Amino acid sequence: MRVLKFGGTSVANADNIKKVINILQQYNQGKTVVVISALGGVTDLLIKTGSLAASKDETYKEVLAELEKRHLDTVKALLPVTQQSSCLSKVKQQFNELEEICEGVYRLNELSPRTRDRIISFGELLSSQIVADYYAAIHQPCEWLDARSLIRTNANYGFAAVDFDTTNSSIAAQVAKSANNLFVAPGFVASNKEGHTTTLGRGGSDYTAAIFAGALEAEALEIWTDVNGMMTADPRWVANAKNIAEISYQEAMELSHFGAKVIYPPTIQPVMAKQIPVWVKNTFAPEEHGTLIRNTPSVEGEFIRGISSMNNIALLSLEGSGMIGIPGFSKRLFEALAKEEINVILITQSSSEHAICVAINLVDVEKAVKAVDGTFEAEIRAGKVDTLKVERNLSIIALVGDQMKSHPGISGKMFGVLGRNGINVRAIAQGSSERNISAVISFDDAKKAVTVLHEAFFEFEYKHLNVCITGVGNVGGKLIDQIAQQKAYLQQHLKLKLKIVALANSRKMLIKEEGISLDNWREELESGAPMELNSFVTAAVSKNLPNAVFVDVTANADVAQVYGSLLAKSISVVACNKIACSSAYGYYQQLKSLATAYNAQFLFETNVGAGLPVIGTLNDLLRSGDRINKIQAVLSGTLNFVFNNYDGTKPFAEVVRQAQEEGYTEPDPRLDLGGTDVMRKIMILAREAGEQLEMDQIANTQFLPASCFEGSVEDFYKEMAKQEAHFQALYKEAADKGCKLKFVATFENGKAAVGLQHIPPASDFYHLYGKDNIVLFYTQRYPEQPLVVKGAGAGADVTASGVFADIIRTARV
Ligand code: ADP
Ligand code: ASP
Ligand code: MG
Repeated sequence: MRVLKFGGTSVANADNIKKVINILQQYNQGKTVVVISALGGVTDLLIKTGSLAASKDETYKEVLAELEKRHLDTVKALLPVTQQSSCLSKVKQQFNELEEICEGVYRLNELSPRTRDRIISFGELLSSQIVADYYAAIHQPCEWLDARSLIRTNANYGFAAVDFDTTNSSIAAQVAKSANNLFVAPGFVASNKEGHTTTLGRGGSDYTAAIFAGALEAEALEIWTDVNGMMTADPRWVANAKNIAEISYQEAMELSHFGAKVIYPPTIQPVMAKQIPVWVKNTFAPEEHGTLIRNTPSVEGEFIRGISSMNNIALLSLEGSGMIGIPGFSKRLFEALAKEEINVILITQSSSEHAICVAINLVDVEKAVKAVDGTFEAEIRAGKVDTLKVERNLSIIALVGDQMKSHPGISGKMFGVLGRNGINVRAIAQGSSERNISAVISFDDAKKAVTVLHEAFFEFEYKHLNVCITGVGNVGGKLIDQIAQQKAYLQQHLKLKLKIVALANSRKMLIKEEGISLDNWREELESGAPMELNSFVTAAVSKNLPNAVFVDVTANADVAQVYGSLLAKSISVVACNKIACSSAYGYYQQLKSLATAYNAQFLFETNVGAGLPVIGTLNDLLRSGDRINKIQAVLSGTLNFVFNNYDGTKPFAEVVRQAQEEGYTEPDPRLDLGGTDVMRKIMILAREAGEQLEMDQIANTQFLPASCFEGSVEDFYKEMAKQEAHFQALYKEAADKGCKLKFVATFENGKAAVGLQHIPPASDFYHLYGKDNIVLFYTQRYPEQPLVVKGAGAGADVTASGVFADIIRTARV
C-alpha cells in the first residue's frame, strides 16, 4: 500500500492532471490511495467568494462563475466527449449547492466558521472527483473515497484536530472491504461527529495523505509537488537553494514548522509514529531523486540541514518588576493564549525573569492583547506588570539540523553573519532539542537574512557581491571593463560572483536587482531614468541586498555626503572620491565609526597614490603594533609629470596643459599645482595614523604666483604663460645645485607640511619618473631605512584597479 498526494499546482489544469495520471500509471503497482488538493488557487478564490458574499458584495457571483467555468473546462479538456456528461453534471450539481450556500451567506450578511469550511471544502471535493472520473475513463475503475466520512475531527473549524482512533479504524475498514486497487480521496476535508464538514488547516492535504498512510500502515507516503523535494531554503527566495536528498523526520518537522511550506507541519506526526518513509517528489520532473524523509543516520560534517522563515509574525512582551520570582506568571500568560486558541510559535524568557516574549501569528494579535491584558488586569492596575507590548511586521528565521548540538559555534556564526549584514535580532530561541536556532527579525530583513545565512552555511562555492557604482567616466568606465574582464577569474579563484545592481552618472541612473549587463551597460544606462541622487540611494538601500557595496568614482561633494546613510544600513562604501576623507575631521571620524558600528567597510585606498598600496600598508603597520615616526612622500602624479618634463625649453604652461590632456590633473589643475591635492593626501595619511588634522593646519609653501589663482582655468593658463620667467628661475636655481624639483609632503611629530624642494641625487626621491608617486614610512621598525611604496600614482587604469581591489576587500572580511 502506498499513499500519494498531489498538490494544487500538480492538478492546476488539464495538462498537469495528465502528468499526474502518467505518474500513477508508471510508478505504481499494488494498492494505492491518491489524495488530491484543490486546483491551484481555488481555495483562495473560495475564501474570497465567502467573504464577498458575507459583506453583501454581489461580485461573489462572478468569482463563482469563473470557478465553475474553470472546472467545467478542465473536465472537457480531459475526458473523452462520450464520457463527459456524468462528470459535468456532478460538477454543475456541486456548484448549484455552493451557490445556494453563498446566497444564504449573502442574505444573512454573515459567514460562520462552519459555513466557511463548508464553502472551501468544495475545492478538494471537485478536484478529486474530476481526477477519479478521468482515471476511470482512460485507465481502470477506481473508487472515490469521501474523506469527510472517514476522517473524524473536533469542531475547531478551519483547523480541526483529528480523532485518530475513530479515523484509523474507519479508513482501514473502508479500504479493506473494497476490491479496488486505486482509491482517490479529497485532501484537506473531514467532518466532526455531528457530520458537519471541517478542514485541517491551509496546506492540509499533505496531512490528509499522512493520516491515510498512518491508518493503512502504508509502505510509503509520497508528496508530489512543484519542486524537486525539500530544499535547503525556499527556492523562491534563494536561487541557489539545494535539494536535500535525505532528512530526518524531526528536521523535516522543524523546517516545516518554521515556514518551509513544501510540507504542512502536522504531516510528519502520523507517519513518524509508524516509521513510514516519506518521499517529496516533483510532478514536473518525476525522474529527479526528490527528498526521502525517514529516521536517517546523520551524515558526518553536515550540521545544518536547512533554513526556513515565517512571515506575518508579531512579538508579544509581558514585562514588569512584579514578575520577578513569583511563580505562575508564565502559566497564566500561556493559559490566556491557549484559551483563545492562539498558537505560540516561539518563546524566550530572560534569566532576570522580568520579561517573557512570545511570537505569534499577526492575525491573532488583537485576541491576544485582549486575553492577556484581561488576565493580568489586577497586576496592571497595581503597576506590577505593564500592558502587553506588541511589535508587528516581524519574521522568524530558523536554522535547522539534528547535528547542531554536537557542534559548537553554529549560533556564533549565525549571529555573526546577521550582524555583518546589519540585521537586527529582536529575540532568539534555541529549542531544548538543540535542533534549531530561531531568531525574530524585521520582515524587511527576512529575505536578506535567509540569503546570507544560506550563503554562509551552504554555498561554499560562491560569495555574491552586489555592487552600486556612481560615476562612469574615465575611472568608472575602466573599472567596469576590469570587472567584466576578471569575472571568470574571480569566480574560479576567489569564489566570488560580482553583480553590478545599480549604475549612475551625472545624468542617468539604472537599478536592476538581477544585474546590469557588463557588455552593453553604456546603452542600458542611457535608457535609464534621470539621475537623482536621493532616489538612487533610497532605491539601493531599499533593495536591502546582502553583501552590498556602494562605489563612488565621482569627484562630487553631494555623493560624498551620502556615505553615512549607506554605512548605517551596513552597506560598505568604496570611495575613489577624496572629498569625504579630506573634509572636516568630524565627518571622516563619523564615517569610520558608522562603519565599525554597522559592520560595514569604508575603504578609500585610491585617495592616496591611486592603486598603490599606501593606506593599506600604513594600516597594516599600525595594526601589527608599529608606530609612525615620519611620513615623507611625493604624492602628486601631476606635479611629478610637470617637473619631470619641465627643463625650461618648453613653456611651463604647455607642460601643464599636456598633463591635463593626458588625464593626470584634476579638472581645475590649480588643485594640483597649488598643492591642495597633496595637502588632502598627506592629511588622509596623518588621519589614518591617528592624528586629528585639518586642512588649515597644514603648512603649504606655494610655488605658483598668487596671480595664477585668479579667474577661470583658461585665465590660469594665460597667467602661467606670462609668468614663464618665474618658472625658469625655479628650475635654474635647483639645476645649478645638481638638484631636481619635487613637491614633497611631510608628516612628523603631529605636523604636516607640503612644498617644492630641491632634491639632491642621493635622495630616495631623485629617481622618480613620469607620474610615479613615492611614500617613505619611517617607523619604530623601520627607523633609518624607511619602508618604501613607489610606483605609478595616477592614471585611470591603476586607479580603477585600486578601486576594484577595495571592492574585493569588502567581500573578504
Ligand atoms: P503544493 O500545492 O504542491 O502543496 P505548496 O505550494 O504547498 O505546494 O508547497 C511547495 C512550495 O513550497 C514550493 O513551490 C516552494 O516555493 C515552497 N517552499 C518553501 N520552502 C521550501 C523548501 N525549504 N523546500 C522546498 N520548497 C519550499
Ligand atoms: N487546498 C488547500 C489549501 O490551499 C489544501 C492544500 O492544498 O493542501 O490550503
Ligand atoms: Mg502544500
